Amino acid sequence: MDRRVKKYIYLRDGGHCYHCGKDLKINQVNIDHYNPKSKGGSNDDFNLVLSCRKCNKYKRSMVPMDIDAVNILLMKQAFQDGRINFDNLKEDIIELRKIVYDVNKINRGAKKVEFLGPKGKITIFDNKIVTVQHSVV
Ligand SMILES: [Zn+2]
Repeated sequence: MDRRVKKYIYLRDGGHCYHCGKDLKINQVNIDHYNPKSKGGSNDDFNLVLSCRKCNKYKRSMVPMDIDAVNILLMKQAFQDGRINFDNLKEDIIELRKIVYDVNKINRGAKKVEFLGPKGKITIFDNKIVTVQHSVV
């Protein structure tokens, strides 16, 4: 795990285990794949949460019930925090932001993850927006 990624997740989650809320020191933390790696969960920031050792061990490859809501919430947070790269796209930041903030659905591909909403669709791979599709009204 990249130390910068670990630090971001630590700060984002306020130093608390995402599952039980336990206060953790940075050297005590585990980084948990919310959608388990064994179930195809990605390494994107929006799929990583802070976890204590106990919860990480207990959770293993369980898929949490609120997985879609959490992945969508953390994707929006990552976008806001400048953790999602889209430098390679010629997109208007305002329009892109509208699409992102209205996302309410997720489709999990083999590697890429699609986020959809009334204003359009974005595909993310490796913390990077690879395609943007605007809704036609
Ligand atoms: Zn915990």
